[in-house]
Amino acid sequence: MHTPNKRLEGQTALITGSSSGIGKAVALAMGKEGANVVINYHSSKEEAEDVANEISKEKAGGETIVVKADVSKEKEVKQLFKNGIEKFGTIDICVPNAGMQQDAELHKMTLDQWNQVIALNLTGQFLCCREAIIEFLERGMRPKVSKSLGKIINMSSVHEIIPWAGHANYAASKGGIEMLMKSICQGYASKKIRCNSIAPGAIKTEINKDVWSTEEGRKQMKKVIPYDEIGEPEDIGSVASWLASDESEYINGTTIFVDGGMTCYPGFTNNG
Ligand code: NAD
Repeated sequence: MHTPNKRLEGQTALITGSSSGIGKAVALAMGKEGANVVINYHSSKEEAEDVANEISKEKAGGETIVVKADVSKEKEVKQLFKNGIEKFGTIDICVPNAGMQQDAELHKMTLDQWNQVIALNLTGQFLCCREAIIEFLERGMRPKVSKSLGKIINMSSVHEIIPWAGHANYAASKGGIEMLMKSICQGYASKKIRCNSIAPGAIKTEINKDVWSTEEGRKQMKKVIPYDEIGEPEDIGSVASWLASDESEYINGTTIFVDGGMTCYPGFTNNG
């Protein structure tokens, strides 16, 4: 378990879809590092408030605000940022994390299934990145707080590089995030904005509960994980809080895979 060292003190982190799963773990990890946290939720206010209460319990943890927003909607993303900035003065760290799956074989996939996933997983991340960059540029450097003008951590997936039959909308959205992230780095690194992605492998959350909640599902999952363990949301939280801190200052425009080796293609272990 990671021991917090308050490396995000005085900063504000906005994390989308942070009432559950990976987003929740990122919110808790950053809150424990002393950041103020804008907790965004889509459907469960109660879960979002539980996350806020957990951060408040932490001595010298950051303050929180809970904001409902559908991050696939431009107006709601603008309002989400406005609420966070009104409460804490600015946003230093943005983690576009909210995501979903709508699985179907491609020849059976409806346009609606395609559009829903792209709207949330890709367009939603674009909308958040854009608002974050606008705020970073307007606010200017805060040298006492961070070496960066601002930090963006896009929540991607191993499926930004591993193709996924039956999930083409999801894989396409994550592949898109890679190029969104790299283009932001290329365009704004000279302004000292850092934009990176985290690509989780299989992490135990609601999104894949139908698989990991059965013995057979866990066995299948582990077949593609050399480390032979399914990840926990906290595995992502600790990497995200480090990636948001000055300790990783020279990392920009890259994806950090947190996947127990899944992207090392274990199917080829014994000669393929
Ligand atoms: P999750 O279902 O717990 O989290 C998704 C969150 O997004 C939920 O809090 C949900 O309420 C929120 N959300 C859904 N629609 C929204 C909307 N329109 N506006 C705002 N929020 C909305 O699952 P998770 O695994 O924690 O997923 C978080 C991110 O991690 C996703 O982007 C997902 O693709 C990515 N990811 C997860 C895994 C994994 O194995 N769990 C692996 C790779 C990538």
